Amino acid sequence: MLADFVKELPEHDELESILRSCVHCGFCNATCPTYQLLGNELDGPRGRIYLLKQALEGQPVSRLTQQHLDRCLTCRSCETTCPSGVRYGRLLDIGRTIVDKRVGRTRRKQIMRALIKAVFPYRYRFSALLHVARLMKPVLPKALKQKIPVRQRAVAWPNTGHARKMLILPGCVQQILAPSIDAAAAQVLNKLGIALLKVQDSGCCGALNYHLSDHPNALQFARKNIDACWPYIEQGAEAIVITASGCGLMFKDYGELLKHDEAYAEKATRFSALAKDISEVVAAEDLTVFKADNRKIVFQSPCTLQHGQKITGVVEAILEKTGYQLTAVADGHLCCGSAGVYSLLLPELSRQLLENKLQALEVNQPDIIATANIGCLSHLQSSSSKKVVHWIELLGKVQETNSAG
Ligand code: SF4
Ligand code: SF4
Repeated sequence: MLADFVKELPEHDELESILRSCVHCGFCNATCPTYQLLGNELDGPRGRIYLLKQALEGQPVSRLTQQHLDRCLTCRSCETTCPSGVRYGRLLDIGRTIVDKRVGRTRRKQIMRALIKAVFPYRYRFSALLHVARLMKPVLPKALKQKIPVRQRAVAWPNTGHARKMLILPGCVQQILAPSIDAAAAQVLNKLGIALLKVQDSGCCGALNYHLSDHPNALQFARKNIDACWPYIEQGAEAIVITASGCGLMFKDYGELLKHDEAYAEKATRFSALAKDISEVVAAEDLTVFKADNRKIVFQSPCTLQHGQKITGVVEAILEKTGYQLTAVADGHLCCGSAGVYSLLLPELSRQLLENKLQALEVNQPDIIATANIGCLSHLQSSSSKKVVHWIELLGKVQETNSAG
């Protein structure tokens, strides 16, 4: 039975139902990256569900409990594998917050987390930090140097007057690290007869705060984004397009996360229904205007795309339809180790996952690695000699052919 302090939460029934749905079969352990690396039951989904159940029942929890939960990448590979449909990610997000409140964190970890939350979700602060890091690059240790991306020049945004209109939120880090991604999306949609409008007053999607157990601020970001988009939604914007699958997953969850907020519940549901990964938008259009070059591509499907949003095979089909040659990837379901700020908080585990992922991606000697999330892109690029791009940049740059063809 769940503890009294859990009974007071609006999520009580949900938590109880998730815990009841797990039949402890352990199938999920087979596809869990941390269980594969560490071989400890408590570093796999079944063991973590057990720990979360203990915590929610009010049994003693410790820093060790917290460590096993922290090691989880929130990749949700276990959800894809689970035959009983256990919503592990939701259980973890709520349960981890409760464990954090009960056991606290060391001063060092508190400072680290506070700094991340104070900088990463704010584009100007992040841009300033990156500027300083680039200045200091020559004197930084190699491991840190590799994490600093090269400066990118902005790509022109097509100025179109198409009747079909979709929205894009510039977000936080992506527009600083790789402005070419959204610009490529705008170019691609322009060719398809769709105008992509930037919603300037928007901000971070809130995923970073949410996964660091800071739910109040995450929901504030959500409300701000809904407010910024609302006038465009009322004017008939067809979709909210997302080019970072991590943010896309968060946008699609706004309806669920704000369902107890009277003022925002309805709007959040509408917002989430309009949220579409760029692959969902492009796949529904006529792609004959695009033609691939002869480069060999390997596609790394981010966890937030394949396990979170359950979008599988869509990007691959688009690239193949436009003529790209795709190489196969072993263990494509496994996380690359980026997982939001996981690479900063647990660098050693993250590095091992990255090495394994790059080995799997590069074995067939592709010319380019394509992905669908800025976090994965930066993480893969930090250790690969291959160029890593967002897949939409391949279409954004391909030549236009006869549209009648
Ligand atoms: S989460 Fe699913 S796969 Fe894992 S132990 Fe529970 S029921 Fe089995
Ligand atoms: S979310 Fe990923 S790392 Fe966490 S338990 Fe599930 S499969 Fe393992």
